[in-house]
Amino acid sequence: MKKLLLLIAGVSLSLNAFAWGQKGHDIVAYIAECHLTPAAAEKVGQVLGGRSMVYYANWMDNASHTPEYAYTKTWHYMNIDADETLETQPRHAKGDVLTAIASITKDIKKGKLSEKEHFDGLRMLIHMVGDMHCPMHAGRSTDRGGNAVPVQFFNRESNLHSIWDSSLVESAHGWSYTEWQWNIDRVAEEFAAQVQAGTLEEWFEQTVRIAKRVYEVTPVGAQISYDYVNAMAPVIEQQLLFGGLRLAALLNALYE
Ligand SMILES: [Zn+2]
Repeated sequence: MKKLLLLIAGVSLSLNAFAWGQKGHDIVAYIAECHLTPAAAEKVGQVLGGRSMVYYANWMDNASHTPEYAYTKTWHYMNIDADETLETQPRHAKGDVLTAIASITKDIKKGKLSEKEHFDGLRMLIHMVGDMHCPMHAGRSTDRGGNAVPVQFFNRESNLHSIWDSSLVESAHGWSYTEWQWNIDRVAEEFAAQVQAGTLEEWFEQTVRIAKRVYEVTPVGAQISYDYVNAMAPVIEQQLLFGGLRLAALLNALYE
């Protein structure tokens, strides 16, 4: 029994190391789905075989652990070190979240992918646009995106990456993904259009700025509790909303 529990704990740790927790990706996918144009919604529905975007929002986190998709392991993030910027940071040889989103978008646009390649590509886009809004996915390579920064979360041993991927989302609100959408996706159309404007790089630079701020306010061994959750909940809400709005913008442009 003890062995089984350890095994389960190990699995959840390795999943945590990858992305927004499942809830975060579901929220981003659902918000995006609510903002698709009719044309994009129809095409997305076809490519996903009638399933929703939420259904596949977390697929890539599992797929990246399988031999078939092991090549996507580094596509969930792009580390930016303490003294680097998006421009100066050397890119990972095996790919990163920005390069992967750009190249898959281009490939789908060209229209030469097989049905299976298109299906995989769309499922990856749904996931990766979420990941690129996850602050610790722009964290430093020197501490593996905060995975090697120990912190205490309500007196439990954790790390900076894990609390930003999951614990803060779960602690901010106990909502389902539809309730998250209902509560945070209520901005004026002009504001949404501003959020959706800009390039992939500009969207990611915002995540980079947040990541740098997170490092400033969260020293190694920080005791994280109510005040931190309270202060960071608006940041989490913003990034999930922006991720959803921008994923919609990307797909609306792709499937005009
Ligand atoms: Zn991921």
